[in-house]
Amino acid sequence: MTAPHQVGHPQLCVARDNFDDCSTAELYHNMKGKGSWPVRTVCPFCGHSILTVTTPYPGILTWLMCISCLLGGCVMGCCLIPFCIRALMDVKHSCPMCHRVLFYHRRL
Ligand SMILES: [Zn+2]
Repeated sequence: MTAPHQVGHPQLCVARDNFDDCSTAELYHNMKGKGSWPVRTVCPFCGHSILTVTTPYPGILTWLMCISCLLGGCVMGCCLIPFCIRALMDVKHSCPMCHRVLFYHRRL
């Protein structure tokens, strides 16, 4: 029985010594600027060709908008609106096969 592909280490980094350093730096370089929408890529952890799964989560911009609303007098729950607007939230891209986080898209 043979393994179909390497599992656990990014393929880009097979010939290198420092796996962690390489995976983080090269991933960030490859994914930088891809935005908040799903990206088609090859997962460096499991080797599958995937479309990233995006998960919005509150980031710095979301909290700034929330605080701005509070300071502007919106105290009846309007300050929570930024948490419902995807365009104001950071996005986490993860692999649908191995569920590892590939990179984060941050608004600020
Ligand atoms: Zn994967």
